[in-house]
Amino acid sequence: MAKLTINEIQNFKGKYPKQLWYLFFSEMWERFSFYGMRGMLIVFMVGNLHMNSEVANLQYGATQAFVYAFTFIGGMFADKILGYRKSLFWGGLLMIVGSIILALDPEKFFFTGIGFTIIGTGFFKPNISTIVGKLYREDDDRRDAGFSLFYAGVNLGAFIGGYLCIAVANGNLFADSIPVDLRWNFAFGFASVVMIISLLTFVQTQKSLGEIGESPLQHIEKSKKTLYEVATYVISIAVIPLVILMVSNSQYTDIFMYIIGPFSLVYLLFEMRNFSAAENKKLMAALVFILFSIVFWAFFEQSGGSLSLFAANNLENTLLGVELDPNGVNNSANSLFVIIFAALVGMLWLFMAKRKVEPNTVVKFGLGFLFLAGGFYVFYQTRFFADENGITSLDLFTFGWFVITFGELCLSPIGMSIMTKLSPHKLQAVMMGMWFLASAYGQYFAGILGANIASASEDANNMDKLIIYAEGYKQLAIYALIAGIVLIAISPMVKKLMQEVK
Ligand code: GLN
Repeated sequence: MAKLTINEIQNFKGKYPKQLWYLFFSEMWERFSFYGMRGMLIVFMVGNLHMNSEVANLQYGATQAFVYAFTFIGGMFADKILGYRKSLFWGGLLMIVGSIILALDPEKFFFTGIGFTIIGTGFFKPNISTIVGKLYREDDDRRDAGFSLFYAGVNLGAFIGGYLCIAVANGNLFADSIPVDLRWNFAFGFASVVMIISLLTFVQTQKSLGEIGESPLQHIEKSKKTLYEVATYVISIAVIPLVILMVSNSQYTDIFMYIIGPFSLVYLLFEMRNFSAAENKKLMAALVFILFSIVFWAFFEQSGGSLSLFAANNLENTLLGVELDPNGVNNSANSLFVIIFAALVGMLWLFMAKRKVEPNTVVKFGLGFLFLAGGFYVFYQTRFFADENGITSLDLFTFGWFVITFGELCLSPIGMSIMTKLSPHKLQAVMMGMWFLASAYGQYFAGILGANIASASEDANNMDKLIIYAEGYKQLAIYALIAGIVLIAISPMVKKLMQEVK
Protein backbone atom coordinates (compact mmCIF):
# COMPACT_ATOMS: atom_id res chain seq x y z
CA MET A 1 0.00 0.00 0.00
CA ALA A 2 1.31 3.43 -0.90
CA LYS A 3 2.29 5.67 1.96
CA LEU A 4 -0.51 8.06 2.93
CA THR A 5 0.26 11.67 2.19
CA ILE A 6 -0.29 14.34 4.77
CA ASN A 7 -3.17 15.70 2.70
CA GLU A 8 -4.90 12.34 2.57
CA ILE A 9 -4.64 12.08 6.35
CA GLN A 10 -5.77 15.62 7.05
CA ASN A 11 -8.72 15.46 4.65
CA PHE A 12 -10.48 12.88 6.77
CA LYS A 13 -14.26 12.78 6.88
CA GLY A 14 -16.27 12.83 10.09
CA LYS A 15 -15.36 14.08 13.55
CA TYR A 16 -12.09 12.27 14.19
CA PRO A 17 -9.30 10.87 12.00
CA LYS A 18 -8.89 7.09 12.46
CA GLN A 19 -5.25 7.59 13.45
CA LEU A 20 -6.46 9.45 16.51
CA TRP A 21 -7.98 6.22 17.83
CA TYR A 22 -4.66 4.39 17.45
CA LEU A 23 -2.83 7.13 19.30
CA PHE A 24 -5.64 7.17 21.86
CA PHE A 25 -4.92 3.51 22.73
CA SER A 26 -1.12 3.83 22.75
CA GLU A 27 -1.38 6.81 25.08
CA MET A 28 -4.04 5.15 27.20
CA TRP A 29 -1.76 2.19 27.95
CA GLU A 30 1.24 4.45 28.47
CA ARG A 31 -0.67 6.56 30.99
CA PHE A 32 -1.94 3.38 32.65
CA SER A 33 1.69 2.42 33.19
CA PHE A 34 2.76 5.94 34.17
CA TYR A 35 -0.05 6.69 36.63
CA GLY A 36 0.04 3.13 37.89
CA MET A 37 3.67 3.62 38.90
CA ARG A 38 3.14 7.16 40.09
CA GLY A 39 0.33 6.08 42.39
CA MET A 40 2.65 3.59 44.08
CA LEU A 41 5.75 5.74 44.52
CA ILE A 42 5.09 7.57 47.75
CA VAL A 43 3.48 4.57 49.44
CA PHE A 44 6.46 2.43 48.49
CA MET A 45 8.98 5.03 49.61
CA VAL A 46 7.41 5.35 53.04
CA GLY A 47 6.42 1.70 53.56
CA ASN A 48 9.31 -0.18 51.97
CA LEU A 49 12.22 2.21 51.66
CA HIS A 50 11.48 3.56 55.14
CA MET A 51 11.76 7.25 54.27
CA ASN A 52 9.96 9.69 56.54
CA SER A 53 6.99 11.27 54.85
CA GLU A 54 8.59 14.68 54.45
CA VAL A 55 11.58 13.22 52.57
CA ALA A 56 9.26 10.98 50.58
CA ASN A 57 7.15 13.98 49.59
CA LEU A 58 10.17 15.89 48.37
CA GLN A 59 11.52 12.88 46.53
CA TYR A 60 8.14 12.20 44.97
CA GLY A 61 7.93 15.83 43.84
CA ALA A 62 11.42 15.51 42.37
CA THR A 63 10.50 12.47 40.29
CA GLN A 64 7.44 14.22 38.89
CA ALA A 65 9.33 17.42 38.17
CA PHE A 66 12.05 15.46 36.36
CA VAL A 67 9.56 13.44 34.36
CA TYR A 68 7.99 16.57 32.93
CA ALA A 69 11.27 18.45 32.61
CA PHE A 70 12.64 15.72 30.37
CA THR A 71 9.69 16.03 28.03
CA PHE A 72 11.28 19.32 26.96
CA ILE A 73 14.54 17.60 26.13
CA GLY A 74 12.72 14.70 24.45
CA GLY A 75 10.81 17.18 22.30
CA MET A 76 14.01 18.94 21.30
CA PHE A 77 15.74 15.74 20.17
CA ALA A 78 12.62 14.68 18.26
CA ASP A 79 12.43 17.96 16.35
CA LYS A 80 16.09 17.99 15.46
CA ILE A 81 17.22 14.39 15.12
CA LEU A 82 14.94 11.44 15.69
CA GLY A 83 11.56 12.58 14.42
CA TYR A 84 8.45 11.92 16.51
CA ARG A 85 7.99 8.29 15.65
CA LYS A 86 11.46 7.03 16.49
CA SER A 87 11.44 9.17 19.65
CA LEU A 88 8.21 7.63 20.73
CA PHE A 89 9.50 4.13 20.09
CA TRP A 90 12.74 4.79 21.95
CA GLY A 91 10.91 6.37 24.87
CA GLY A 92 8.49 3.46 25.07
CA LEU A 93 11.38 1.01 25.11
CA LEU A 94 13.10 2.84 27.97
CA MET A 95 9.85 2.95 29.92
CA ILE A 96 9.47 -0.81 29.48
CA VAL A 97 13.03 -1.37 30.71
CA GLY A 98 12.39 0.94 33.69
CA SER A 99 9.23 -0.85 34.74
CA ILE A 100 10.80 -4.30 34.30
CA ILE A 101 13.72 -3.24 36.51
CA LEU A 102 11.21 -2.12 39.14
CA ALA A 103 9.24 -5.33 38.80
CA LEU A 104 12.36 -7.44 39.33
CA ASP A 105 13.45 -5.85 42.59
CA PRO A 106 11.82 -2.54 43.47
CA GLU A 107 13.71 -2.12 46.72
CA LYS A 108 17.17 -2.63 45.29
CA PHE A 109 16.68 -0.91 41.96
CA PHE A 110 14.11 1.73 42.85
CA PHE A 111 15.90 4.81 41.55
CA THR A 112 17.43 2.95 38.60
CA GLY A 113 13.95 1.97 37.41
CA ILE A 114 12.69 5.50 37.98
CA GLY A 115 15.68 6.91 36.03
CA PHE A 116 14.80 4.85 32.95
CA THR A 117 11.14 5.80 33.28
CA ILE A 118 11.95 9.51 33.46
CA ILE A 119 14.05 9.53 30.30
CA GLY A 120 11.59 7.21 28.55
CA THR A 121 8.59 9.41 29.33
CA GLY A 122 10.60 12.38 28.10
CA PHE A 123 10.87 10.81 24.67
CA PHE A 124 7.34 9.41 24.59
CA LYS A 125 4.90 11.88 26.11
CA PRO A 126 5.43 15.16 24.24
CA ASN A 127 5.86 13.48 20.88
CA ILE A 128 2.70 11.44 20.85
CA SER A 129 0.82 14.67 21.64
CA THR A 130 2.61 16.47 18.80
CA ILE A 131 1.62 13.70 16.37
CA VAL A 132 -2.03 14.24 17.34
CA GLY A 133 -1.66 17.88 16.28
CA LYS A 134 -0.19 16.81 12.94
CA LEU A 135 -3.38 14.97 12.02
CA TYR A 136 -5.09 18.31 11.49
CA ARG A 137 -4.72 21.06 8.95
CA GLU A 138 -3.83 24.37 10.50
CA ASP A 139 -7.32 25.82 10.08
CA ASP A 140 -9.24 22.68 11.03
CA ASP A 141 -11.62 23.54 13.86
CA ARG A 142 -12.01 19.84 14.74
CA ARG A 143 -8.56 19.91 16.35
CA ASP A 144 -9.62 20.87 19.91
CA ALA A 145 -12.26 18.15 19.88
CA GLY A 146 -9.56 15.70 18.79
CA PHE A 147 -7.32 16.69 21.67
CA SER A 148 -10.27 16.37 24.05
CA LEU A 149 -10.84 12.79 22.90
CA PHE A 150 -7.12 12.03 23.19
CA TYR A 151 -7.26 13.47 26.70
CA ALA A 152 -10.07 11.07 27.56
CA GLY A 153 -7.65 8.28 26.58
CA VAL A 154 -5.03 9.76 28.91
CA ASN A 155 -7.47 9.68 31.77
CA LEU A 156 -8.93 6.28 31.03
CA GLY A 157 -5.42 4.89 31.40
CA ALA A 158 -4.78 7.04 34.48
CA PHE A 159 -8.03 5.94 36.10
CA ILE A 160 -7.55 2.18 35.65
CA GLY A 161 -3.77 2.14 36.24
CA GLY A 162 -3.97 4.54 39.18
CA TYR A 163 -6.42 2.27 40.93
CA LEU A 164 -5.25 -1.18 39.84
CA CYS A 165 -1.53 -1.06 40.58
CA ILE A 166 -1.79 0.32 44.11
CA ALA A 167 -4.71 -2.00 44.88
CA VAL A 168 -2.59 -5.01 43.84
CA ALA A 169 0.37 -3.70 45.83
CA ASN A 170 -1.80 -3.18 48.92
CA GLY A 171 -3.29 -6.64 48.62
CA ASN A 172 -6.79 -5.38 47.89
CA LEU A 173 -6.93 -7.00 44.46
CA PHE A 174 -5.94 -10.50 43.29
CA ALA A 175 -4.66 -11.13 46.82
CA ASP A 176 -5.48 -14.85 46.58
CA SER A 177 -3.42 -15.42 43.45
CA ILE A 178 -0.34 -13.30 44.24
CA PRO A 179 2.06 -14.32 47.04
CA VAL A 180 2.27 -11.60 49.70
CA ASP A 181 5.98 -10.92 49.25
CA LEU A 182 5.62 -10.54 45.48
CA ARG A 183 2.78 -8.02 45.50
CA TRP A 184 4.96 -5.03 44.67
CA ASN A 185 6.77 -6.97 41.95
CA PHE A 186 3.45 -7.85 40.34
CA ALA A 187 2.14 -4.30 40.69
CA PHE A 188 5.20 -2.86 38.93
CA GLY A 189 5.02 -5.82 36.55
CA PHE A 190 1.52 -4.71 35.49
CA ALA A 191 2.99 -1.34 34.54
CA SER A 192 5.55 -3.01 32.28
CA VAL A 193 3.04 -5.35 30.63
CA VAL A 194 0.72 -2.49 29.68
CA MET A 195 3.67 -0.43 28.46
CA ILE A 196 4.55 -3.30 26.12
CA ILE A 197 0.93 -3.26 24.89
CA SER A 198 1.22 0.51 24.35
CA LEU A 199 4.34 0.14 22.23
CA LEU A 200 2.97 -2.79 20.25
CA THR A 201 -0.18 -0.79 19.51
CA PHE A 202 1.97 2.02 18.18
CA VAL A 203 4.22 -0.25 16.12
CA GLN A 204 1.24 -2.04 14.60
CA THR A 205 -0.56 1.13 13.60
CA GLN A 206 2.20 3.61 12.82
CA LYS A 207 2.01 2.89 9.09
CA SER A 208 -1.29 4.76 9.04
CA LEU A 209 0.61 7.93 9.95
CA GLY A 210 2.13 8.10 6.46
CA GLU A 211 4.84 10.71 6.45
CA ILE A 212 3.90 12.22 9.82
CA GLY A 213 6.69 12.02 12.38
CA GLU A 214 9.39 10.78 10.04
CA SER A 215 13.01 11.82 10.44
CA PRO A 216 13.72 15.56 10.10
CA LEU A 217 17.12 14.57 8.66
CA GLN A 218 15.88 12.98 5.41
CA HIS A 219 17.90 15.42 3.35
CA ILE A 220 21.32 14.62 4.83
CA GLU A 221 23.64 11.71 4.09
CA LYS A 222 22.41 8.40 5.45
CA SER A 223 25.57 7.60 7.41
CA LYS A 224 25.52 11.01 9.07
CA LYS A 225 21.86 10.63 9.96
CA THR A 226 22.52 7.23 11.53
CA LEU A 227 25.44 8.68 13.46
CA TYR A 228 23.24 11.45 14.93
CA GLU A 229 20.54 8.97 15.81
CA VAL A 230 22.87 6.50 17.48
CA ALA A 231 24.51 9.39 19.36
CA THR A 232 21.08 10.40 20.68
CA TYR A 233 20.41 6.87 21.91
CA VAL A 234 23.82 6.62 23.53
CA ILE A 235 23.59 10.03 25.20
CA SER A 236 20.13 9.32 26.54
CA ILE A 237 21.37 6.14 28.18
CA ALA A 238 24.54 7.82 29.41
CA VAL A 239 22.59 10.52 31.30
CA ILE A 240 20.50 7.99 33.19
CA PRO A 241 23.07 7.58 36.02
CA LEU A 242 23.11 11.37 36.37
CA VAL A 243 19.33 11.48 36.56
CA ILE A 244 19.35 8.70 39.15
CA LEU A 245 21.79 10.73 41.23
CA MET A 246 19.72 13.90 40.95
CA VAL A 247 16.37 12.27 41.73
CA SER A 248 17.70 10.41 44.71
CA ASN A 249 19.09 13.65 46.20
CA SER A 250 16.21 16.07 46.17
CA GLN A 251 18.43 19.14 46.82
CA TYR A 252 19.77 18.63 43.30
CA THR A 253 16.24 19.05 42.04
CA ASP A 254 16.33 22.71 43.09
CA ILE A 255 19.51 23.29 41.13
CA PHE A 256 18.14 21.46 38.12
CA MET A 257 14.93 23.48 38.20
CA TYR A 258 16.88 26.74 38.42
CA ILE A 259 18.74 25.78 35.27
CA ILE A 260 16.31 24.02 32.94
CA GLY A 261 13.67 26.79 32.79
CA PRO A 262 16.03 29.66 31.92
CA PHE A 263 17.87 27.32 29.54
CA SER A 264 14.65 26.51 27.70
CA LEU A 265 13.83 30.22 27.41
CA VAL A 266 17.28 31.08 26.06
CA TYR A 267 17.00 28.19 23.63
CA LEU A 268 13.64 29.46 22.44
CA LEU A 269 14.98 33.00 21.98
CA PHE A 270 17.88 31.56 20.03
CA GLU A 271 15.49 29.64 17.78
CA MET A 272 13.31 32.69 17.32
CA ARG A 273 15.94 34.39 15.22
CA ASN A 274 15.06 31.94 12.41
CA PHE A 275 11.43 32.94 12.26
CA SER A 276 9.43 35.90 11.02
CA ALA A 277 8.05 38.60 13.33
CA ALA A 278 4.56 37.18 12.88
CA GLU A 279 5.70 33.69 13.87
CA ASN A 280 7.55 35.06 16.87
CA LYS A 281 4.47 36.90 18.08
CA LYS A 282 2.65 33.59 18.12
CA LEU A 283 5.50 32.07 20.13
CA MET A 284 5.16 34.92 22.65
CA ALA A 285 1.46 34.10 22.98
CA ALA A 286 2.40 30.45 23.52
CA LEU A 287 4.69 31.60 26.35
CA VAL A 288 1.82 33.43 28.05
CA PHE A 289 -0.18 30.20 28.03
CA ILE A 290 2.82 28.27 29.33
CA LEU A 291 3.42 30.70 32.21
CA PHE A 292 -0.19 30.63 33.33
CA SER A 293 -0.29 26.87 33.11
CA ILE A 294 2.54 26.69 35.69
CA VAL A 295 0.22 28.38 38.17
CA PHE A 296 -2.63 26.09 37.21
CA TRP A 297 -0.61 22.90 37.73
CA ALA A 298 0.96 24.15 40.97
CA PHE A 299 -2.57 24.29 42.42
CA PHE A 300 -4.01 21.31 40.60
CA GLU A 301 -1.14 18.99 41.56
CA GLN A 302 -1.96 19.36 45.24
CA SER A 303 -3.80 16.14 44.38
CA GLY A 304 -0.80 13.86 44.86
CA GLY A 305 0.53 15.85 47.83
CA SER A 306 -1.42 17.93 50.35
CA LEU A 307 -4.84 16.76 49.17
CA SER A 308 -3.75 13.15 49.72
CA LEU A 309 -2.89 13.97 53.33
CA PHE A 310 -6.14 15.90 53.68
CA ALA A 311 -8.02 12.89 52.30
CA ALA A 312 -6.23 10.53 54.67
CA ASN A 313 -6.82 12.66 57.78
CA ASN A 314 -10.03 14.54 57.31
CA LEU A 315 -12.43 12.74 55.01
CA GLU A 316 -15.13 10.21 55.80
CA ASN A 317 -15.18 6.98 53.83
CA THR A 318 -18.57 7.00 52.15
CA LEU A 319 -19.39 8.54 48.80
CA LEU A 320 -23.10 8.81 48.05
CA GLY A 321 -23.67 6.15 50.68
CA VAL A 322 -21.12 3.70 49.22
CA GLU A 323 -18.10 2.81 51.32
CA LEU A 324 -14.90 3.85 49.53
CA ASP A 325 -11.29 4.67 50.33
CA PRO A 326 -11.08 8.49 50.47
CA ASN A 327 -7.52 8.44 49.08
CA GLY A 328 -8.66 6.25 46.22
CA VAL A 329 -11.42 8.74 45.51
CA ASN A 330 -8.95 11.63 45.63
CA ASN A 331 -6.73 9.77 43.13
CA SER A 332 -9.35 8.73 40.64
CA ALA A 333 -12.47 10.95 40.79
CA ASN A 334 -10.89 13.58 38.58
CA SER A 335 -9.89 11.06 35.88
CA LEU A 336 -13.35 9.56 35.90
CA PHE A 337 -14.94 12.99 35.48
CA VAL A 338 -12.56 13.75 32.61
CA ILE A 339 -13.56 10.51 30.86
CA ILE A 340 -17.25 11.30 31.27
CA PHE A 341 -17.06 14.95 30.29
CA ALA A 342 -14.11 15.34 27.88
CA ALA A 343 -16.06 14.29 24.80
CA LEU A 344 -19.02 16.37 25.91
CA VAL A 345 -16.90 19.48 26.34
CA GLY A 346 -15.20 18.72 23.00
CA MET A 347 -18.61 18.53 21.37
CA LEU A 348 -19.67 21.77 23.03
CA TRP A 349 -16.67 23.58 21.50
CA LEU A 350 -17.52 22.09 18.11
CA PHE A 351 -21.16 23.09 18.44
CA MET A 352 -20.16 26.63 19.42
CA ALA A 353 -17.58 26.82 16.62
CA LYS A 354 -20.26 25.98 14.05
CA ARG A 355 -22.35 28.85 15.35
CA LYS A 356 -19.27 31.09 15.50
CA VAL A 357 -19.62 31.67 19.24
CA GLU A 358 -16.76 29.49 20.47
CA PRO A 359 -14.69 31.35 23.09
CA ASN A 360 -11.09 32.07 22.17
CA THR A 361 -8.40 29.92 23.79
CA VAL A 362 -7.33 32.76 26.12
CA VAL A 363 -10.85 33.06 27.43
CA LYS A 364 -11.06 29.26 27.80
CA PHE A 365 -7.87 29.39 29.87
CA GLY A 366 -9.40 32.18 31.98
CA LEU A 367 -12.50 30.03 32.51
CA GLY A 368 -10.20 27.16 33.47
CA PHE A 369 -8.86 29.25 36.35
CA LEU A 370 -12.36 30.28 37.44
CA PHE A 371 -13.36 26.61 37.68
CA LEU A 372 -10.12 25.89 39.55
CA ALA A 373 -10.97 28.68 41.99
CA GLY A 374 -14.50 27.27 42.37
CA GLY A 375 -13.16 23.79 43.11
CA PHE A 376 -10.73 24.99 45.77
CA TYR A 377 -13.50 27.10 47.28
CA VAL A 378 -15.53 23.89 47.60
CA PHE A 379 -12.55 22.23 49.33
CA TYR A 380 -12.51 25.19 51.72
CA GLN A 381 -16.23 24.81 52.37
CA THR A 382 -15.72 21.24 53.62
CA ARG A 383 -14.61 22.67 56.96
CA PHE A 384 -18.20 23.73 57.69
CA PHE A 385 -19.47 20.16 57.35
CA ALA A 386 -17.08 18.48 59.77
CA ASP A 387 -17.92 16.45 62.89
CA GLU A 388 -16.18 17.13 66.20
CA ASN A 389 -13.20 14.97 65.13
CA GLY A 390 -12.52 17.08 62.08
CA ILE A 391 -13.88 14.46 59.67
CA THR A 392 -15.82 15.98 56.83
CA SER A 393 -17.89 15.14 53.78
CA LEU A 394 -16.35 13.03 51.00
CA ASP A 395 -19.37 13.92 48.85
CA LEU A 396 -18.60 17.62 49.01
CA PHE A 397 -14.89 16.98 48.48
CA THR A 398 -15.65 14.93 45.35
CA PHE A 399 -17.88 17.73 44.12
CA GLY A 400 -14.79 19.97 44.39
CA TRP A 401 -12.96 17.63 41.97
CA PHE A 402 -15.99 17.70 39.70
CA VAL A 403 -15.73 21.49 39.43
CA ILE A 404 -11.94 21.45 38.98
CA THR A 405 -12.25 18.87 36.20
CA PHE A 406 -14.06 21.42 34.03
CA GLY A 407 -11.19 23.80 34.67
CA GLU A 408 -8.71 21.15 33.57
CA LEU A 409 -10.76 20.50 30.43
CA CYS A 410 -10.72 24.21 29.59
CA LEU A 411 -6.96 24.27 29.86
CA SER A 412 -5.05 21.03 29.48
CA PRO A 413 -6.25 19.44 26.18
CA ILE A 414 -6.68 22.90 24.72
CA GLY A 415 -3.20 23.86 25.87
CA MET A 416 -1.68 20.98 23.89
CA SER A 417 -3.80 21.93 20.92
CA ILE A 418 -2.79 25.60 21.02
CA MET A 419 0.92 24.70 21.28
CA THR A 420 0.62 22.87 17.96
CA LYS A 421 -1.24 25.83 16.42
CA LEU A 422 1.10 28.56 17.60
CA SER A 423 4.43 26.91 16.78
CA PRO A 424 6.15 26.90 13.42
CA HIS A 425 6.45 23.31 12.13
CA LYS A 426 10.10 22.98 13.00
CA LEU A 427 9.52 23.92 16.62
CA GLN A 428 6.40 21.95 17.45
CA ALA A 429 7.88 19.26 19.65
CA VAL A 430 10.01 21.78 21.54
CA MET A 431 6.95 23.88 22.27
CA MET A 432 5.05 20.79 23.35
CA GLY A 433 8.04 20.02 25.55
CA MET A 434 7.84 23.53 27.02
CA TRP A 435 4.17 23.02 27.68
CA PHE A 436 5.04 19.96 29.76
CA LEU A 437 8.02 21.74 31.28
CA ALA A 438 5.44 24.10 32.75
CA SER A 439 3.94 21.02 34.39
CA ALA A 440 7.38 20.24 35.80
CA TYR A 441 7.47 23.66 37.47
CA GLY A 442 3.86 23.17 38.51
CA GLN A 443 4.82 19.90 40.22
CA TYR A 444 7.81 21.54 41.81
CA PHE A 445 5.85 24.51 43.20
CA ALA A 446 2.96 22.24 44.16
CA GLY A 447 5.35 20.39 46.46
CA ILE A 448 6.48 23.63 48.08
CA LEU A 449 2.93 24.93 48.51
CA GLY A 450 1.77 21.60 49.88
CA ALA A 451 4.73 21.39 52.27
CA ASN A 452 3.89 24.87 53.58
CA ILE A 453 0.32 23.91 54.27
CA ALA A 454 1.42 20.64 55.85
CA SER A 455 4.16 22.12 58.03
CA ALA A 456 1.75 24.67 59.51
CA SER A 457 -0.26 21.78 60.88
CA GLU A 458 2.58 19.53 62.07
CA ASP A 459 1.47 19.04 65.68
CA ALA A 460 -2.14 20.10 65.30
CA ASN A 461 -5.11 17.90 66.19
CA ASN A 462 -7.40 16.70 63.42
CA MET A 463 -9.86 19.57 63.73
CA ASP A 464 -7.10 22.20 63.59
CA LYS A 465 -5.54 20.39 60.66
CA LEU A 466 -8.84 20.61 58.82
CA ILE A 467 -9.04 24.34 59.46
CA ILE A 468 -5.42 24.97 58.40
CA TYR A 469 -5.80 22.96 55.19
CA ALA A 470 -9.15 24.57 54.41
CA GLU A 471 -7.69 28.04 54.91
CA GLY A 472 -4.80 27.07 52.59
CA TYR A 473 -7.28 26.02 49.93
CA LYS A 474 -9.21 29.26 50.34
CA GLN A 475 -6.01 31.16 49.61
CA LEU A 476 -5.42 29.07 46.51
CA ALA A 477 -9.02 29.73 45.42
CA ILE A 478 -8.41 33.48 45.70
CA TYR A 479 -5.17 33.32 43.70
CA ALA A 480 -6.81 31.19 41.03
CA LEU A 481 -9.66 33.68 40.80
CA ILE A 482 -7.19 36.53 40.37
CA ALA A 483 -5.26 34.60 37.70
CA GLY A 484 -8.50 33.96 35.81
CA ILE A 485 -9.54 37.60 35.93
CA VAL A 486 -6.07 38.75 34.79
CA LEU A 487 -6.13 36.31 31.87
CA ILE A 488 -9.55 37.43 30.71
CA ALA A 489 -8.47 41.07 31.11
CA ILE A 490 -5.34 40.62 28.99
CA SER A 491 -7.11 38.42 26.44
CA PRO A 492 -7.39 41.18 23.78
CA MET A 493 -3.60 41.64 23.93
CA VAL A 494 -2.85 37.93 23.72
CA LYS A 495 -5.37 37.57 20.88
CA LYS A 496 -3.41 40.18 18.96
CA LEU A 497 -0.22 38.17 19.39
CA MET A 498 -2.03 35.06 18.22
CA GLN A 499 -3.21 36.80 15.03
CA GLU A 500 -5.46 34.44 13.02
CA VAL A 501 -5.06 31.53 15.47
CA LYS A 502 -8.01 30.93 17.75
N1 GLN B 1 -3.08 14.49 33.29
C1 GLN B 1 -2.50 14.88 32.08
C2 GLN B 1 -1.58 13.86 31.49
O1 GLN B 1 -1.05 13.02 32.16
C3 GLN B 1 -1.82 16.22 32.17
C4 GLN B 1 -0.61 16.16 32.98
C5 GLN B 1 0.11 17.49 33.00
O2 GLN B 1 0.36 18.12 31.99
N2 GLN B 1 0.50 17.90 34.16
O3 GLN B 1 -1.38 13.88 30.31
